[in-house]
Amino acid sequence: MARRPLIAGNWKMNGLKKDGRALAAGLAKLMKKEKKPAFEMLVCPPYPLIDRVVEAVKGSGIKVGGQDSHTAVSGAHTGDVSPAMLADLGCKYVILGHSERRTDHGEKDALVKAKAEAAIAAGLKVIVCVGETLAQREKGQTIAVNRRQVRGSLPDGADAKNTVIAYEPVWAIGTGLTATPEQAQEVHAEIRATLAGLIGGEADKMRILYGGSMKPGNAGELMAQPDIDGGLIGGAALKVEDFWGIAKSC
Ligand code: PEP
Repeated sequence: MARRPLIAGNWKMNGLKKDGRALAAGLAKLMKKEKKPAFEMLVCPPYPLIDRVVEAVKGSGIKVGGQDSHTAVSGAHTGDVSPAMLADLGCKYVILGHSERRTDHGEKDALVKAKAEAAIAAGLKVIVCVGETLAQREKGQTIAVNRRQVRGSLPDGADAKNTVIAYEPVWAIGTGLTATPEQAQEVHAEIRATLAGLIGGEADKMRILYGGSMKPGNAGELMAQPDIDGGLIGGAALKVEDFWGIAKSC
């Protein structure tokens, strides 16, 4: 089953106006030169930069996404942003259930699922993140944790068009430690098998991204694995050359 790789940049809480514009414009310039990109490219800036980034990537084919969104369309939720607002700004995707949100904001699977269902209803595609901590890996719980998170966070009505899964071992995020291609493939294959139990044949079409210290130097061998369909990239998404280098290794 041919799945088009998705190269997604998670800028996290980084960048002022000029940085966001420069990064987006640098990527747009390179993308415009690509005749037939072998990958889909997505950048997810912090909220205040979304408008500018949408403007800067216009005509390049690069898509823009949010890093989180609420379960409600509008209302009394101070500091939150609804999926309808992201869609209105021109976003096509939203990242949900990132381990930093699970840790910093206590987000649990049921909330991630509800957010994903609201985002899909607003017309966004969702990137649902799962992944084990180092302690869980050391206790031999890797497969069980990822299975549980996929089962608990997958939105009702998920299909390959509206949902992407990102496997991000928490111990590899921002640490410089990367899962080996074999370690990553083992979990990706398990996630696909879990998806097959939930959504049948659609699991074969659904993209599963790897995330965790992906760089130009290790992206090629990770993405060569049969069940790895792209990357969710943090640190290396903040430099045009690094992010582009990862995309080109598809
Ligand atoms: C992430 O936060 O989604 C991530 C994968 O970060 P990094 O690439 O910096 O490990």
